[in-house]
Amino acid sequence: MKTVVKNIDRTQLKSEKSKGIIAQAGEILRAGGLVAFPTETVYGLGADGLNEDAAGKIYAAKGRPSDNPLIVHITEIKDLKKIAAVVPGEAYKIADRYWPGPITMIFEKTGEVPYGTTGMLETVAVRMPDDEVAREIIRAGGGFVAAPSANTSGRPSPTSAAHVKEDLDGKIDMIVDGGRVEIGVESTILDMTVTPPMILRPGAVTKEMLEELIGEVSVDRSLIDADSKEPPKAPGMKYRHYAPRAELSIVEGRMEPVIREINRLAEKKIADGYCVGIIGTDETAKKYENGIIKSIGTRTDEATIAGHLYSILREFDEERVDYIFCESFPTEGIGSAIMNRLMKAAGHHVISV
Ligand code: AMP
Ligand code: MG
Repeated sequence: MKTVVKNIDRTQLKSEKSKGIIAQAGEILRAGGLVAFPTETVYGLGADGLNEDAAGKIYAAKGRPSDNPLIVHITEIKDLKKIAAVVPGEAYKIADRYWPGPITMIFEKTGEVPYGTTGMLETVAVRMPDDEVAREIIRAGGGFVAAPSANTSGRPSPTSAAHVKEDLDGKIDMIVDGGRVEIGVESTILDMTVTPPMILRPGAVTKEMLEELIGEVSVDRSLIDADSKEPPKAPGMKYRHYAPRAELSIVEGRMEPVIREINRLAEKKIADGYCVGIIGTDETAKKYENGIIKSIGTRTDEATIAGHLYSILREFDEERVDYIFCESFPTEGIGSAIMNRLMKAAGHHVISV
């Protein structure tokens, strides 16, 4: 299959050229094809979420396990009723404040949603993205677009169209290139079918933000306790994805000892003939001595760290490093999403100093 790649200028969405690209993407989606497009979190791989065959193509293109359900993306709150059988009042409060935006809610599904979209579950995950390019494409595609991250399963999520091309060129119909994404980590997932609602995946909308709005919110135990015997409640969270090809270790502790330990570990691996990558920050990068050193962002603005997380892991893949050593980050705010993804990428390999 030839994958068409189109650049869209998000400042000129009403231009004839942009309208043409959106119409083409919409046609492909309505005909049951696959289109990758930017959202504010990461690039999504879209298919008609109400068409079982179309959703099935997503699994094939990504190599995604069939029990890992898809998130259905909508653009209008009135459309929620068509796919969600029960919508509690708190969900409307959350939608009111944070939709469009980086939070996904889980509801009991209606008969409109095929089991091929929900991984055989009786529930459906729904999000209303904020990115204008995504919204135009979803509307053009019929309004209910299933879209997981547009990467090969097991690789870091894509934050640029180039990442999507690396993984899916020749496997999907179209890539709409709308530049780099804004946030860089996937949406918060909140299960609204339980009381109190439960966070199944941390994202940019944090537990604190939700509790301020609706009161108590719980967190899936498997997110807090790495040794938890219970499987994660979001089926996708049990897979070791977001993973780079190299072995990633997170070094935690006070800053100076962490830097010393990373320098020591890197020197040792390099002496053994390995290629080593180091993930530091603007504040610390200069203090590393050996290996390929990258800054992931600044500690004074953790959003910059979320924004570079996946692209740094992909860069190290390209540079064929064998080992990556990474600093650890505080888990407040977006930090809990950052550490969740880093810990998974590292297979929970942490070195404490
Ligand atoms: P992705 O879109 O690739 O970021 O992955 C979607 C995530 O949402 C995966 O971790 C899924 O397991 C999770 N998810 C989607 N639908 C449901 C659902 N109905 N119940 C629980 N988790 C879900
Ligand atoms: Mg994903």
